[in-house]
Amino acid sequence: MAHDGRGEPRRAPGLSAATVVVGVMGDPVAHSLSPRLHNTAFARLGLDWVSVGFPVPAGGAAAALAGARSLGVRGLSVTMPHKEDVAAAVDGLSPEAARLGAVNCAVEVDGAWRGANTDGAGFVAALARGDRFGVAGARCLVVGAGGAARAVIAALGDAGAAEVVVVNRTRTRAREAAELAGPVGRTGTADEASGVDLVVNATPVGMGGVDGGAAGWPVDPALLRPGQLVVDLVYHPPVTPWLAAAGDRGATTANGLGMLVHQAALQIELWTGSSAPVDAMWEAVAGPGHGPSPE
Ligand code: NAP
Repeated sequence: MAHDGRGEPRRAPGLSAATVVVGVMGDPVAHSLSPRLHNTAFARLGLDWVSVGFPVPAGGAAAALAGARSLGVRGLSVTMPHKEDVAAAVDGLSPEAARLGAVNCAVEVDGAWRGANTDGAGFVAALARGDRFGVAGARCLVVGAGGAARAVIAALGDAGAAEVVVVNRTRTRAREAAELAGPVGRTGTADEASGVDLVVNATPVGMGGVDGGAAGWPVDPALLRPGQLVVDLVYHPPVTPWLAAAGDRGATTANGLGMLVHQAALQIELWTGSSAPVDAMWEAVAGPGHGPSPE
């Protein structure tokens, strides 16, 4: 495929009045990798679709949805700070979005917006494909209880985890989040990390200078070991100091790019009905040869 100088797939000439428009709505949104992922998929699928960024300030989600519907926008990827507001404003919700009270993907169906949430399924798909980790029967520990953590916790429960231990700075939020995993969910402490198969950091600690305050690391790296998969949902920087320390302890590590790619792939499938070209999407954000093999 042809690329421009920055590695973006070059769209075939032909953007026209017939081009189908989707986009990512958020604030800020200019840094978002979603249009790159979506446009890579559209180019590979030979679809005359385009994805762009829609900067929408906090509080503007409902008006943006109404305007987008009037303009014939067919799909919206939804990011901070709008996921809950979009869940309240759409015409219907998928079971996942209803359970989480958050939408990361709006799909236009016969003039109405249907809200879905592909974050959790994207996380589990990334584990299965890229990191070759099967959730069924696994003991898991998730640090965080915000939007990303809640999606991951619910998906781990759905995928048959034996246990989902939730650790969070604010204990009441941990309890509410743990309930999303059903009977296998409970709150716990970071000290329990040595006994689990999967450890996930779903806090921003490690991103752009955010530190963990008194708690320090999400989990003390001394508790991590070979045989564990340690995932940091942060992907900027690609390797946080904590993830590097987990690797030094011999754990298998992965950042949040897998979740990002796979949640976008599921959005493509919801919008277009076509299977997403996941390898090409991986390469678009990680560079040639950096995406994990599906084997
Ligand atoms: P959020 O809703 O704001 O939740 C943040 C969570 O982190 C809360 O549980 C919060 O604890 C905790 N937290 C925040 N600052 C902390 C600190 N300094 N020390 C300890 N805990 C702290 O955010 P989110 O949307 O869930 O996002 C969380 C992270 O996941 C971000 O880094 C984001 O970039 C990443 N993410 C990645 C993907 C992906 O596709 N890879 C997708 C979504 C998000 P309290 O409850 O105590 O406030």
